[in-house]
Amino acid sequence: MSREHQHDAGLLSRRALLGGIGCACCAGVLGTGEALARIAPKSMNSLVGPGYKPVDRDERGLWQQYDRFEEEVAGSNLRMNDPAMQRYLGGLAERVGGPAARDLRVYLVRVPEFNAFMTPTGFMVVFSGLLTRMRNEAQLSGVIAHEAGHYLRKHQIRAYRDTKQKANAFAVLAMAAGVGGAGAGVYLGDAVQLAQLGTILSLFDYSRELEAEADAIGLRNIAETGYEPMEMSRVWEQLIAETEASARVRNKRPRRGGSLLATHPAPRERMRDLRASAAEVTQAGRSYEDGRARYQNALAPHRAMLLDDQIKLNDPGASLYIIENLAKDGWNGLLRFYEAETYRLRGRPEDLARAVSGYAQAVRFPDAPAEAWRQHGYAQIKAGRPAEGRQALQTYLAKAPNAPDAKMVRFSLAQ
Ligand SMILES: [Zn+2]
Repeated sequence: MSREHQHDAGLLSRRALLGGIGCACCAGVLGTGEALARIAPKSMNSLVGPGYKPVDRDERGLWQQYDRFEEEVAGSNLRMNDPAMQRYLGGLAERVGGPAARDLRVYLVRVPEFNAFMTPTGFMVVFSGLLTRMRNEAQLSGVIAHEAGHYLRKHQIRAYRDTKQKANAFAVLAMAAGVGGAGAGVYLGDAVQLAQLGTILSLFDYSRELEAEADAIGLRNIAETGYEPMEMSRVWEQLIAETEASARVRNKRPRRGGSLLATHPAPRERMRDLRASAAEVTQAGRSYEDGRARYQNALAPHRAMLLDDQIKLNDPGASLYIIENLAKDGWNGLLRFYEAETYRLRGRPEDLARAVSGYAQAVRFPDAPAEAWRQHGYAQIKAGRPAEGRQALQTYLAKAPNAPDAKMVRFSLAQ
């Protein structure tokens, strides 16, 4: 087995643990894939009001478990504790959360997968990989509104009663309650936390019908707030395109999540339904916004880390798609740098030249990260242009004087 294969197998198993590509509750088990009539947004009302509390024994039991789970998530070392980002996400949930606006809590965890889930008690977990992929605030708000929709429609307790898997759910939750304390919480390589996360996510697979309800009420709420309603269907469009790009580059049939996309029409159906519903809720004469500038501002301090986490997944097809999709709003130094890094890590014969040209393009932007200057410098020296190369390395040292490799770079400059 080649190295590449081993790495790929690791990726697959990690993906499998995380329930395949896509929001567990959005693109999980899609059932039979049978066509389902679209649910009109105006027909979806909230089943809970402000300050909702559980009404019967089943629900109270479930809430107790989830309260413990929330404490664990709140204290988890997977959590990204950035107060500004926390306020930003909380603010979005408040805008699109309907009657539950003030009751919802949002936790951001550093897991570079497209995912988010909502618990029956009103706390939501957003994966950092979701932020990596969204082009604007309307898209992110659409996902948050969809998740809030599961709460507003009481999906968890309804699904729980339908499946009658109570013992099962409690067993999983009891285990889930240990997730926060499970040790040093760096995402990559923490198999224990990931395995637990995968099991937890399996709790949030809903039926096609409940997903359609969450889409309908979520869309209604973002439109009423003034977000461009069509952006919600674009999230699906992007997810489908990413999955296809990922499979194409790996030269394989789409993996589990992908094969669901291929064999079950549901994601495409949902995209079409969301488009039709968006047209329905759009009011003539009203203006809608996508909030792109606000989104980019909020993300700015984390963008490099998010892209870095993504490219290290060694899924070049997906990474290149994500970068190119973001670049539809304009290239910048960060996107060019991580595009070049993706090529370098992929390492096909033609990729080296692409990486070299990518670093050169990256450093023309004022926001190019210091690493772009280092890579550009070494590439220029290697290409027989020592003067340019040395100058780029000087720029690197000026931008990152305390970088771990600064001493080494100074040494090579002295040669
Ligand atoms: Zn969902």
